[in-house]
Amino acid sequence: TREIHLTRRPVGRPVSEDFTLAEVELPDPGPGQVLVRNTVLSVDPYMRGRMNDTESYVAPYALNAAMDGGAVGEVVASEDPSLAVGDTVTHMAGWREHALLDAGEARRVDVSRVPGSAYLSVLGMPGLTAYVGLTRIGKLAEGEVVHVSGAAGAVGSLVGQMATLLGASYVTGSAGSPEKVRWLTDDLGFDAAYDYRDGDLTGQLGTALDGRRIDVYFDNVGGDHLEAAIEHMADFGRVAACGAISTYDATEPPPGPRNLTRIVQRRLTVSGFIVGDHRDAASEFYRTVGGWLAEERLSFRETFVDGLENAVEGFLGLGTGGNTGKMLIRL
Ligand code: NDP
Repeated sequence: TREIHLTRRPVGRPVSEDFTLAEVELPDPGPGQVLVRNTVLSVDPYMRGRMNDTESYVAPYALNAAMDGGAVGEVVASEDPSLAVGDTVTHMAGWREHALLDAGEARRVDVSRVPGSAYLSVLGMPGLTAYVGLTRIGKLAEGEVVHVSGAAGAVGSLVGQMATLLGASYVTGSAGSPEKVRWLTDDLGFDAAYDYRDGDLTGQLGTALDGRRIDVYFDNVGGDHLEAAIEHMADFGRVAACGAISTYDATEPPPGPRNLTRIVQRRLTVSGFIVGDHRDAASEFYRTVGGWLAEERLSFRETFVDGLENAVEGFLGLGTGGNTGKMLIRL
């Protein structure tokens, strides 16, 4: 079976030579173990940070070993009574075709109403990130104005829709192409959106807001997107600092927003958060988001790249906007 190893720590934007497609032997499962054939792998922006050997909230990837990451697969051999051959499970041994796991490391999922891939997108980590970021971190209240950057991605596309479902009065987003902007406004119900590649972020955001100020800014991009949002924040506004994808390949510290004094003037709260600290929100999340899906009030999109041999390319596509909705690798 095959798996992707990190063989060299990338400098700046990763290149294919930083990775190897390795052939390995897998033993049969021992007592309490299962063998899973992975069908869908998640590639996520946070993985870029794990390729560096620096201190963070999650350990760096080891060199010359399979990377891990979210995955969904089918149990093909089981030596544990809790899981049967044929069960669909989600687990963290991604970036490989087969995973040998302790049964406790795999969670069985219900694929009768959604495809297994949904547990890596709308019902998985990105969905929980959007939900927690809006409710717990952004403390969104009825009637408020929300802006999200990276709005056509896995997290952002859910943030915009959930904001409206949670009672926001006006939702704006930015994304990297005219097609993505159209998807946001025409299909997902964003009130306004713009293509950040057209430049003048502060001006374009002002036009989108049409005289309003932002109560909750959900920041996926950082950099000049954060500066533009700060400029348009309402008094007592909240910034849910989720990610800063515009800086992940930086080799020098990126410049900070030039308008931080606004944090004082407007009495803003800027809160960073990591979804893993909010697992206790999971049951409320499944109930609420499962309900929205059943009622067809929330839609989600997935972009599939086929084949483990193309997984690195899929990951790199995150940095060039190759995905609309969640980027996934289909095996
Ligand atoms: P996305 O699905 O949003 O994929 C990344 C997108 O980012 C691309 O499609 C691209 O879209 C956009 N992008 C890439 N480079 C840039 C750039 N230089 N400037 C502006 N936009 C860029 O990924 P996710 O939804 O999985 O993640 C979104 C953010 O949330 C990331 O910052 C990620 O690290 C963070 N995150 C944080 C979590 C937490 O616990 N705090 C958990 C999960 C995600 P476009 O075409 O619009 O440029």
